Amino acid sequence: MEKIVLIGAGYAGFKFMDALKNLNKDKDNEILWLSKEDFMTKKWLMDSYIVKNKDEKIIVKVRDFIKEKNINVHFTEDEIENIDTEKKEITGKKGKYNYTKLIIATGSKAKLPRIECAESVKEKIIAFNSFYDFKKVKENLKDSKDVVIIGAGPIGFELSVNLSKKFNVSLIEFESDIMLALLIGKPLYRKITGKILNLRNVNIYTLTKACKFECDKLFCDNMETKENFYVPSGTIVFAAGVKQNLPVIDGYTFETEKNTLICNDFGEAWIREENGRRKILTDVHAIGDACYYLNIGNFPASAMFAERGGKTVAWNIFQSGYKNKKRLDFNPSLYAKFLDMILRRL
Ligand SMILES: Cc1cc2nc3c(=O)[nH]c(=O)nc-3n(C[C@H](O)[C@H](O)[C@H](O)COP(=O)(O)OP(=O)(O)OC[C@H]3O[C@@H](n4cnc5c(N)ncnc54)[C@H](O)[C@@H]3O)c2cc1C
Repeated sequence: MEKIVLIGAGYAGFKFMDALKNLNKDKDNEILWLSKEDFMTKKWLMDSYIVKNKDEKIIVKVRDFIKEKNINVHFTEDEIENIDTEKKEITGKKGKYNYTKLIIATGSKAKLPRIECAESVKEKIIAFNSFYDFKKVKENLKDSKDVVIIGAGPIGFELSVNLSKKFNVSLIEFESDIMLALLIGKPLYRKITGKILNLRNVNIYTLTKACKFECDKLFCDNMETKENFYVPSGTIVFAAGVKQNLPVIDGYTFETEKNTLICNDFGEAWIREENGRRKILTDVHAIGDACYYLNIGNFPASAMFAERGGKTVAWNIFQSGYKNKKRLDFNPSLYAKFLDMILRRL
């Protein structure tokens, strides 16, 4: 009998449980689901939530999901702080748990560029980590006219387009162009996204670093011209990318991104140490935003990858030989990503 423990109730965790339900049917395995919150946030619906009124659709309660799907799993709300893969022991704020197989699905958290500001105005600066952050943005926007979005990736772009219907939006980007990481080698597509923002009257500032927030003004430096200027800002939203969100694993920390948790083709986890060495984690899998895929440069951090990882790993943990295991095989085209983004919002 196995004791399978899953940490994290995000999209990857939900997809894992959904797939496991059928695979574990006539088996005697004990399944424990741990997460620091008892609900999942559909992060990709953030624009509907902030701009429109679709409150009921953005979260899914874990216990409702377990009941509806009739999954034989025990759920415990706890924030995990430490994993010891030698002892096969997990330590949370509320208790200790043992496992024979572990799946880490603790997701990602927003990167926070450093901006100087007084403690009293910090609440006007928000990054998207949980449902409560979406709620805070929605609340803050009630008193704001001017919104600044820091980071012109897909999230910054989408948010700018949506918020520009009601607010004066400024988009600050450190790089030389918008959507550079997603549309690398595609200058025409980047030009089109720029045109869309121009039509929406979004003020775009590239090669710009946000430095200080004071009296509803965000002071910035243009890195090319060295010019200093400010943009009006009642609310500031960080959309400057995400990084792995992980507890301490075998003494390794991940906050500074020197150590990295990576999964292979089968979802099996290993740590790439700061000095490049590998530590294989026996009986540990990683799925979703919690892990890089195959190598350090490949951090998919997308719902598509979370879904693929959840389903594949659920299948793989019951297989002993490599020949029966499924591969993640994740390399979607730009077209597939775009289509998924649209369908996901319907
Ligand atoms: C605004 C926004 C828009 C997006 N739009 C899209 C899109 O259009 N298309 C797309 O493919 N992707 C999109 N994404 C990305 C997508 O939402 C994520 O890739 C996906 O949700 C990742 O799922 P996950 O389960 O890996 O992580 P998460 O959803 O982050 O879930 C992690 C879970 O782990 C729990 N947890 C964290 N730490 C601990 C701990 N220490 N102990 C216990 N539990 C813990 C959390 O409570 C949470 O339940 C978007 C993201 C954002 C923020």
